[in-house]
Amino acid sequence: MASGGIKDGTSSSGVWIFVDDSNLWIEAKKLSASRRHMETYEDPRIRINDEKLQEVVADNRHVNKGTVYGSGPKKIWDRSRWSVSTHKRSGITGKEKKVDTQIVADIVELVCSPDNLQKGNTVIIITGDADILPAVRKAMERTPWKVEMRMWGSSLAEEINQESHLYPGRLSVKTLDEDIDNILFIDYVFNKTKRRKGDLLPNNAVVLVNPEVGVDVPMSWKVEMDKECLYPFRYYQDSRLDKSDKLIVVVFFLLEDGLDYMRAKIQSSSDLSLNADYVLTYSDYFQYKTVLCKYYDDDSLEEGCPYGDMCDYAHGQADASCIKCRKRGHLTKRCPEP
Ligand SMILES: [Zn+2]
Ligand SMILES: [Zn+2]
Repeated sequence: MASGGIKDGTSSSGVWIFVDDSNLWIEAKKLSASRRHMETYEDPRIRINDEKLQEVVADNRHVNKGTVYGSGPKKIWDRSRWSVSTHKRSGITGKEKKVDTQIVADIVELVCSPDNLQKGNTVIIITGDADILPAVRKAMERTPWKVEMRMWGSSLAEEINQESHLYPGRLSVKTLDEDIDNILFIDYVFNKTKRRKGDLLPNNAVVLVNPEVGVDVPMSWKVEMDKECLYPFRYYQDSRLDKSDKLIVVVFFLLEDGLDYMRAKIQSSSDLSLNADYVLTYSDYFQYKTVLCKYYDDDSLEEGCPYGDMCDYAHGQADASCIKCRKRGHLTKRCPEP
């Protein structure tokens, strides 16, 4: 519908969608942590499937325009489908309003321009914050505009519900809860290249050495890890060690201490460890240089490593530590102990 929703000169049923992204995402992170009975206040891995969100709220109606406001991860919003408001919050009062004032201004402008009625009369607002109500009331003053409010049930302000009773048939409030598994997903993959080496990994990561997995880690492992560990984690498979050890590095978020507990927990279950040879904390695995540098061979014949003393890997057997007996001077596969 390239003409923007106008068909045959009659009023079309197109909709405008306004998304308070901060509210939607912050509440999604909290809701998801509580649904999974996690030990943390929120699950920072939660992401929004923007295409599904639009599908669910538009419900087969033409979308005249979808606009996103706020400070969630911008990358998720497909710019062919959404326009992303880059309006800066006002700093005059020094206080941050919960609802971006721009979303209120834009809705008011939409419903105050009669020409827009040629393309539809429905405004869909995705927020649970009562600060949006001035915009809703302005739309209610202008018949025949209708407003549909959508948000997770747990974070929908009571004032919004009450307001809907004043405008039966014109202001509707509905939760997104029945579509939660369509709209939200977990981003499990840790992007190691995006971070400086050493910021999160040494104190928050566990290494599975030689787990039994193929190219992809099975979904059942992720589900089991979530169920058992109760802390949000991400992981990556290490590709640098192509010689011998294959690694899955599991990085926990919001874990104050308790990494040793997590390590022991993963080790105690083959479902969690994926039958890894060893399960070690990241610092144990890398500080103690349990893996031979690819520029060296077992008998310490130096080929010259560009990382020198900064290398994470053992420069010959004398530099290596054994995972089995925890002694220095030999690689694990050369351990003399039975
Ligand atoms: Zn090296
Ligand atoms: Zn040993």
